[in-house]
Amino acid sequence: MDLTNSDRDLTAEVEELSGENIFSCYQCGKCSAGCPFTEEMDQLPNQVLRKVQMGDGSVLDSNTPWTCASCLSCEVDCPKGNDVPAIMEAMREISLRKNLDRVDLNELETKDLPEIALVSNLRKKTG
Ligand code: SF4
Ligand code: SF4
Repeated sequence: MDLTNSDRDLTAEVEELSGENIFSCYQCGKCSAGCPFTEEMDQLPNQVLRKVQMGDGSVLDSNTPWTCASCLSCEVDCPKGNDVPAIMEAMREISLRKNLDRVDLNELETKDLPEIALVSNLRKKTG
């Protein structure tokens, strides 16, 4: 598979944060078949992994990482032992970082706010 640099950025970032080899997923779909929360997800877990493999940044707009309850069912079912919840966690972290980059801190009166207030507000808006 030929990936552009920006494609590699997303794929490599998810791999670095999750500690997982994204390309070990061969799309058998067992993670999605056993996931108890797919009805609430706009994309199935295996579809999310495929988009991460392809470096498709649009996957960061999916609600799937935010719907994942880290129940570990998919990790148990995966024949490759992929830690899908860790991948979802990595995606949540990347999404939060990107949204933080979009905030114009000059427009906010942050100097009197404790840092936790800014983080909480950000999580509320992006969760
Ligand atoms: S850990 Fe997340 S993706 Fe995996 S089965 Fe549970 S809810 Fe679904
Ligand atoms: S069960 Fe594992 S190998 Fe199969 S699609 Fe899910 S993550 Fe990929």
